[in-house]
Amino acid sequence: MTADFSFTPGTFLPGGLGRSGVIHTPHGDIATPAFVAVGTKATVKAVLPESVAGVGAQAVLANAYHLFLQPGSDIVDAAGGLGAFMNWPGPTFTDSGGFQVMSLGVGFKKVLAMDATGLADDDEIAAGKSRLAHVDDDGVTFTSHLNGDRHRFTPEVSMRIQHELGADIMFAFDECTTLLNTRGYQERSLARTHAWAVRCLAEHGRLTEQRVGKPYQALFGVVQGAQYEDLRRAASRDLASLEVDGRRFDGYGIGGALEKENLGTIVGWVSEELPVDRPRHLLGISEPDDFFAAIEAGADTFDCVMPSRVARNAAIYTVDGRFNVNTAASRRAFVPLDADCDCYTCAHYTRAYLHHLFKAKEMLAATLATIHNERFTVRLVDDIRASIDAGEFAVFKEEFLGRFYSGRR
Ligand SMILES: [Zn+2]
Repeated sequence: MTADFSFTPGTFLPGGLGRSGVIHTPHGDIATPAFVAVGTKATVKAVLPESVAGVGAQAVLANAYHLFLQPGSDIVDAAGGLGAFMNWPGPTFTDSGGFQVMSLGVGFKKVLAMDATGLADDDEIAAGKSRLAHVDDDGVTFTSHLNGDRHRFTPEVSMRIQHELGADIMFAFDECTTLLNTRGYQERSLARTHAWAVRCLAEHGRLTEQRVGKPYQALFGVVQGAQYEDLRRAASRDLASLEVDGRRFDGYGIGGALEKENLGTIVGWVSEELPVDRPRHLLGISEPDDFFAAIEAGADTFDCVMPSRVARNAAIYTVDGRFNVNTAASRRAFVPLDADCDCYTCAHYTRAYLHHLFKAKEMLAATLATIHNERFTVRLVDDIRASIDAGEFAVFKEEFLGRFYSGRR
């Protein structure tokens, strides 16, 4: 880590893995644990950056694959980087594009819930789908979902794109597997991801020196290894000790398919092996019980499209669980979405009004629902952080989850 990027652990939980802390970046500090708002295409869908700040989000994560295709990472570079381009003055993240590229046409989301037993080989994962991406040891060749153009991502290409996007925190290019891949494939994939991590660090160093005068960009290595303890631990140790031309990873991402039941266990294996003074980012979780489990096991930051995506479908998070404001029950409900919420939407609007906006297909429906769900999620993680610092994590966890999952509504 450099003078421009560092992580300071704060209070540790009794188990010794979970902690509060502060990530220092050139565009400001992030108090952790923290939920990072997702702005895939350099916008958090349906809301102004001022509203993103208003819900308390400390950072925004954009997607290298989408911005590479449209408008092009050179355009974002010419604009002064992601934050300047989208009018977000705070810290920013970009992911490597690996997940989007490799999941093209393979149906990652669907197969994650399927049973892997009985599959003869890894190619069956893509059965019935047109395979838009092909992975080899050097990189990934894929077809644009926008216009059918062929492109190739390698570790070096991902690093160049992410340097042009200019986010404070970037991720190494890794191969994303699913729970359906065989154990043998997971082993070969880990070796490939490690070789790519070496190439990412080398190219990151070269670009950092070449692009003088730019704010420092931190690079996180990504730990894969699916549900296998030995693979996860070995991958974590390898990335923790990896040094190329005097550079190490500034932090780590915990990637890959995770089943809800063993999420905390897997994050725990990884946290035990990674250095305590570097932040750990867990990709793609948003359910309250998952936050508690992951934070207790040592994860520091999170991102997920889910709070805003479900908001656009009228699904609303409250301290008493999730409900859909589209149903008749909200037609005459002249009460806030969540009486305990302090967001702009709950301060000024009723369930009945949101119900009307969704029924009338008004654009403001998505805006107001997104503001509420993002606030709910950011605040939950903020409250968990406060409970750690106050020594009340276990009490807060029991109270919050007891109420959220009680099914009272
Ligand atoms: Zn609210």
